[in-house]
Amino acid sequence: MIFNESQISRLGELILKSESIVLIPHKNSDGDAIGSILGWWNLFKNKGLNATVVVPDAVPDNLQWMKGANEIVVHENDPQKSKEALKHSDLLFLMDFNNLQRCGSLADIVSTLNTTRVLIDHHPDPVWGVADLIFSEIGVSSTCELSYHIIKSLNWQDNVDEFSAESFYSGIITDTGSLSYNSSHPRTYMVVGELVGKGIDKDKIHKQLFQSNSLTRMRLLGHVLCNKMELMNDLEAAYIAISKDDLDNHNYKPGDTEGFVNYPLGIKGVEISAMFTEKEREKFVKVSFRSRDNTPVNLYSEKYFSGGGHAKAAGGEWNGTLRGAIEHFKKTLPDFINQIRES
Ligand code: 5GP
Ligand code: MN
Repeated sequence: MIFNESQISRLGELILKSESIVLIPHKNSDGDAIGSILGWWNLFKNKGLNATVVVPDAVPDNLQWMKGANEIVVHENDPQKSKEALKHSDLLFLMDFNNLQRCGSLADIVSTLNTTRVLIDHHPDPVWGVADLIFSEIGVSSTCELSYHIIKSLNWQDNVDEFSAESFYSGIITDTGSLSYNSSHPRTYMVVGELVGKGIDKDKIHKQLFQSNSLTRMRLLGHVLCNKMELMNDLEAAYIAISKDDLDNHNYKPGDTEGFVNYPLGIKGVEISAMFTEKEREKFVKVSFRSRDNTPVNLYSEKYFSGGGHAKAAGGEWNGTLRGAIEHFKKTLPDFINQIRES
């Protein structure tokens, strides 16, 4: 991957002269967001730089093993500490998102600061002016892969140690469904190969990421697949609706529903999957979309659920009841699909 040379040298200069770097992911952070942030954080430590990670909300349990995770400042739990870190920072790294609104409760604080911002991301349509230095590549599997390409262009790959490598590797694996989608380009495997070459314990990482579920998460998955999944055969679609009661009854923790939206795509004939999760009773529903065919669910989400994302994996929000969100979905999806499939 080739970057603009002056952008790369500016990035190198900004990092090396900074005295306090703060790295920020999107809200409801996932493996790619936390992986890319801790990958860079470990690299900065190896270069003797001072860096802090500030996240808007809780980090999922299955990512807590990464080196540096125990030092993350969670704004929701410690707003004073996160504000201080942001205020005293001279360089902000925005990772795995391209619109300030995506970093939730941190957006208001960040927008008042004049601090230089670097953005590294792989989502379509970055908001103009969101950062001073923008590395935005849609065709790349993950922000973690993109980060490693940038690090190689800086010629800093020797500063990627085992801990940095295992964070970057985790983001590539989680954002591609273990290299099943968004991973058809050979360069992804070159990066994976180099990261494995750093001495990471691949088997341990997969165990931490995918085989460390709580019993309550597994029971919630069973309940959801048995009782909360509906097929829409005429549209080759399916959806899952999870109520706040479902979550409460299964001792829900952040990250517990991660990946559930992919299950309907395992059914023969289902090309589009949606998942509605009632996060605040009768008030707020988080929505996820996946597509297996060429239906750009990010455009649908943008238009009908104030969201966005990638063509095959998108998300959005609904302010209202779970029932209202599903009615809206059933009303709007047919026209959207017909338009796309006819064009
Ligand atoms: P997930 O369904 O895993 O939460 O998100 C899938 C993709 O959609 C991710 O790339 C994520 O960044 C994006 N996404 C999720 N929720 C939202 C949202 O509310 N707004 C926007 N713009 N993108 C979202
Ligand atoms: Mn990502």
